[in-house]
Amino acid sequence: MIKENLNTVETKIAAACVRAGRERADVMLIAVSKTKPVEMLTEAYDTGVRDFGENKAQEMCDKIPKLPADIRWHMIGHLQRNKVKYIIDQAALIHSVDTYRLAEEINIQAKKRGIIVPILVEVNIAGERSKFGASAEDAMLLVEEIAALENLRIKGLMTIAPYVVDAEENRPYFRKIKQLSVDITNKNIDNVSMEVLSMGMTGDYEVAIEEGATMVRVGTGIFGERSYKKSNE
Ligand SMILES: *Cc1c(COP(=O)(O)O)cnc(C)c1O
Repeated sequence: MIKENLNTVETKIAAACVRAGRERADVMLIAVSKTKPVEMLTEAYDTGVRDFGENKAQEMCDKIPKLPADIRWHMIGHLQRNKVKYIIDQAALIHSVDTYRLAEEINIQAKKRGIIVPILVEVNIAGERSKFGASAEDAMLLVEEIAALENLRIKGLMTIAPYVVDAEENRPYFRKIKQLSVDITNKNIDNVSMEVLSMGMTGDYEVAIEEGATMVRVGTGIFGERSYKKSNE
C-alpha cells in the first residue's frame, strides 16, 4: 500500500515539476510519519525514502534508534524550548522555528555541543489564529534577529497553508511566501540563505511545487489517514 502511494505521489510531483519547468531534483519529498508505527516507516524506507518528518520531539527520539542511521529526520512540529536539547543533534533540519526565544534556545544548545544548526523560519502566511509562525509582516524582522545568532543557519521558510478542499485556494498564499523569500534574499543578510521553501501537504503539494516549494511534507498521501482526532494535531 505504501509503495503504491509513494508511486502515486512521485508521479504527481514529477508532473508538477514539468508544469512548472522545474527539475525533479529540486523538490524533496518528506514523508510525514507522525503517529505511524516503525513498521510503516521501514516499508517507506525500503521503497527508497530517506527523509522523514515528525512533529513531536519524544516520538522522533523514540523512532530514531529503531530505524537506519542514514535517515534524515525533519522536525516539522511546534517545538517547546525544553525539548530542544533532545532533538538538536538528531534533526537534519528544524522547520518550525517560530519565535526568537526558540531560536535563542537552539543557539544555546548548539553552542554547548559546538555545532551549527540549520533551521527554517515558520511563517503563518494566511494569518490563521490557530497556527504558529511569524506573520508575513513580522517575518523579515524575525529573520534578521535570528540571523545574528552564531550557531544557527537560516536555510529558508516554512509554512502550513490553511486546510482547504480546493488546493487552488492556497495558491495565493504559496505565491506570497515565495515572494517573501525573494524579498529576504534581496536583503543579503549574513548567515541567511533562502534555498529552502518548505510548503505543501497531501492536499496541496502539487500547487505548492508549481509555486516554488523545494520541500513538500506529505503524510496522509503516503501512510493513509491518521487515527487520532483532528483536535490533537
Ligand atoms: C501532519 C503534517 C503534515 C502532513 O500532513 P498531511 O496532510 O497528512 O500530508 C505536513 N506538515 C506538518 C507541519 C504537519 O504537522
